[in-house]
Amino acid sequence: MKTNAWNNYSEKDIIKLNEVADAYKIFISNSKTERESTNNILALAERRGFKDLDYYIENEIKLKSGDKVFVNNRGKSVALFVIGDEDITKGINILGAHIDSPRLDLKSNPLYEEEEFSYFDTHYYGGIKKYQWVTLPLALHGVVVKKNGKKININIGEKDDDPVFGITDLLPHLGNEQMKKKASEVIPGDKLDILVGSIPLKLDSKENEDLVKKNILNILKEKYNIDEDDFLSSEIEVTPAGRARDFGFDRSMVMAYGQDDKVCAFTSLKAFLDVNRCKKTISCILVDKEEIGSVGATGMESSFYEDALKEICVLLGHDSITTLGRVFRNSKMLSSDVTAAYDPLYDDVYNKRCDTLFNRGVSFCKFTGARGKSGSNDANAEFIAELRSIMDEENVKFQISEMGKVDAGGGGTIAYILANKNVNVIDCGVGVLSMHAPWEVTSKSDIYEAYKCYVAFLRKI
Ligand code: MN
Ligand code: MN
Repeated sequence: MKTNAWNNYSEKDIIKLNEVADAYKIFISNSKTERESTNNILALAERRGFKDLDYYIENEIKLKSGDKVFVNNRGKSVALFVIGDEDITKGINILGAHIDSPRLDLKSNPLYEEEEFSYFDTHYYGGIKKYQWVTLPLALHGVVVKKNGKKININIGEKDDDPVFGITDLLPHLGNEQMKKKASEVIPGDKLDILVGSIPLKLDSKENEDLVKKNILNILKEKYNIDEDDFLSSEIEVTPAGRARDFGFDRSMVMAYGQDDKVCAFTSLKAFLDVNRCKKTISCILVDKEEIGSVGATGMESSFYEDALKEICVLLGHDSITTLGRVFRNSKMLSSDVTAAYDPLYDDVYNKRCDTLFNRGVSFCKFTGARGKSGSNDANAEFIAELRSIMDEENVKFQISEMGKVDAGGGGTIAYILANKNVNVIDCGVGVLSMHAPWEVTSKSDIYEAYKCYVAFLRKI
């Protein structure tokens, strides 16, 4: 039966649980985007002795058991490997999570002025409820790349003395017509524009148009050396401003932006780095673009992971065309992604008996998808049996769940992608309340059990 994890924790458990949660809060507060996540992941890995795979390739250095390598895919996705004692064709154990989260992206030509207000025009990224994004303090994160290739890093709105930005909403007093609209239409996507300034440039010439915008451009030039044209080659993401916080009087939960899927990215990475070395080769994949369908060079559908594995096989002395197929066929993967946690306030869309419950441990999802399991990776019962046995042996609290009532909705993960390469994959992650909202909520006990699950998987499978 599913029982509440907090009932069975010893004092030692609580200490460890809080260590994991505290490290997580620091990581996620400093990793709001895929780029920031990649930087922080690589810094942690390099501190543990990981080296760039390119170093081995360029210097024709053979890989051997115990070697630790990373692949940095364009600063937005990472794959980590620790070579095991066993031959790689016996398969590898893989943890995979995504490091992108729903947000608003600035358009390529974003700055405009309207009635002496200056705005950034945006296009939202991933599945958001647009009405949730108004009247919040927002921060800007990303890069502006100058024509000469010089990169300017942007991170404005997170420090206490930074300004913040935001999207206005109509006051209730004048909201009669607005409040009659459907929730999906209350705030149209096109109106998710960020207010960034209101002081006009002092008139010292014949110019008298868009003076607020011009003043903003002056500030951008002076403070950051950004010209208006530089936005053409920029990626600036708008996220909620502020750090992860303890949630609830009992501090049992965490509230943070981007927990889908950094809660699984962090616990996977921590488990992977803590396990350090195994009989089998182990790998941790942390990818971009899941929220828009795993597309693009930095998404899981890209060949970068497979290409890295090919390089590794060659550096391990394998040169047959059958090698990679054997590696995949014998590999196992936890697609570590969050799932919807049962919310009693919205009981009508859940099936409590089958859904993920808070504080009941890490959640395995045999299938996600929608409308007749469409688009899902339907994990094999044999694999699930093996996992059940390991989790019980290692005292990991887990649940095997689905996501809401049949036909209530649905969703995808990266699970199907390596499953399509013939890897045994199952989704396995932390339940989230208010998923995809600017501020999501998770349980510290579920975070801790996810970490323990990933350690057990890497060591024992
Ligand atoms: Mn996700
Ligand atoms: Mn998501």
